[in-house]
Amino acid sequence: MSFLPADTTCIITFETRGRLRASFAGLVCAALLAVASPGAGAADYSVAYNPYGGVDWATTLRCQSQHHDHAESYGRITALDAAGYCAVTFMTYSGRFRPSNLSEWNAAGNPNPDPGKPVDFGPPRRWPPEDFGAPQLPLTNLKFYLPGAEEIGLYATGSYGQHVQSTFLTTYIEGAGCLTCGIGGIPVVGNTPAMPPSQVHASIQELIDRVVENGGHATINHPAGASSAYMQYSGLGSVEMFNNYHRNADDFAGNDAYSNQMMAIWDHLLEHKSPRIWGVASNDWFSAWTPLGQTYSPTQFGPVTPQNRDRGKLQVLLPSYDLESYRAAFEAGAFFAIVEDNAIKAAYPIVTNVAVGFDRITISTAIGTESIRWIGNGSVLAYTPTLVLDGLPDGLVYVRAEISDGEGRTVYTQPFSLGDPLPPPPGPPIPAMSRGALACLALLLLAAVSLRSAWIDRSA
Ligand SMILES: [Zn+2]
Repeated sequence: MSFLPADTTCIITFETRGRLRASFAGLVCAALLAVASPGAGAADYSVAYNPYGGVDWATTLRCQSQHHDHAESYGRITALDAAGYCAVTFMTYSGRFRPSNLSEWNAAGNPNPDPGKPVDFGPPRRWPPEDFGAPQLPLTNLKFYLPGAEEIGLYATGSYGQHVQSTFLTTYIEGAGCLTCGIGGIPVVGNTPAMPPSQVHASIQELIDRVVENGGHATINHPAGASSAYMQYSGLGSVEMFNNYHRNADDFAGNDAYSNQMMAIWDHLLEHKSPRIWGVASNDWFSAWTPLGQTYSPTQFGPVTPQNRDRGKLQVLLPSYDLESYRAAFEAGAFFAIVEDNAIKAAYPIVTNVAVGFDRITISTAIGTESIRWIGNGSVLAYTPTLVLDGLPDGLVYVRAEISDGEGRTVYTQPFSLGDPLPPPPGPPIPAMSRGALACLALLLLAAVSLRSAWIDRSA
């Protein structure tokens, strides 16, 4: 009597000893094949969009950049240059024009603020930065400036709303809100009547729309709340998934509340809205220029240290050092979001190649010893440099990788959109067999040898 299943396809019946071996081989073989092919709850994929598809890894320039950290003075810019930045935004808040001398402004007939009147949140237009006190470029590392500002959203009630980074925008836009409601009890002194409708907004969606319609890229700065909190907005180009202002608040509170929310919001948007919303890391006040030892608020933050400042940044992969190339690379997703939680900066892992095959993605780094964690639909999938896109959970929309050096520095790739599996590429080299099929073949060969020897034993 055999305890082996009679219907295993690989069973070869012969003399008892050999038959048992062959049956066992068949059983293992069938199991291996079952594991190797996707079953219920598993699926095969290909990469439908590779954000690094346009990168020439042999010649690419690696530009460390900063979109959002309130570097609005000569000294702050030179500090960023010394910290290794290649491109930065000469920025402050924007979108709440309030002339400091109201009577003078009224006497002038409430002019459009374009000429750069005195304002509350800085000059309404700060491009080109050299006209507003920024140093002439290039400096040692800094090659060019990025347009943009932190736009202050204003709800129709007059209260402040979501902040949106208007990357690449050079047109002044303003939150109109409700002029009579006021902000904090102070009536809003707006110039809305002088502004064309194309430059005013009174809701978060309108703010995003004005940024995009006027030629900018909208990034949701420090998103917070439930992971689904930003699903209702359209036109988002990117969201912050790390913000050093909020990371410092988390550190002081002794938890990861803000930081976890931002990452969860990004993953939720990728899965449920679009796998091509990029993730951005920023300094937001806790920058390379921020004085060491400074405490912004003793109830919210600890003192600034070499480790806790300048933790959030980008590295954009460029063919040449200019704004046009930068914008094309950034909007294609050819960049990494970087968190450096270490006193020694600009020492994060360097990705030397991202190879996308018909069924896999392989990440190579200069050192090659970092841990690489793959995330798909917000869950961990693997801890290997190569992610094989076969047999992964059903319903995956995207995958992304996190490359960590074990000393607080992590490089986040942008998401790879997933699509249906592709057939292996035709012609030589012969496509590799699956591990299961190879193991099955080896076992069958062993079984054949075993049968033959058993046959010889019996014949002798
Ligand atoms: Zn900010």
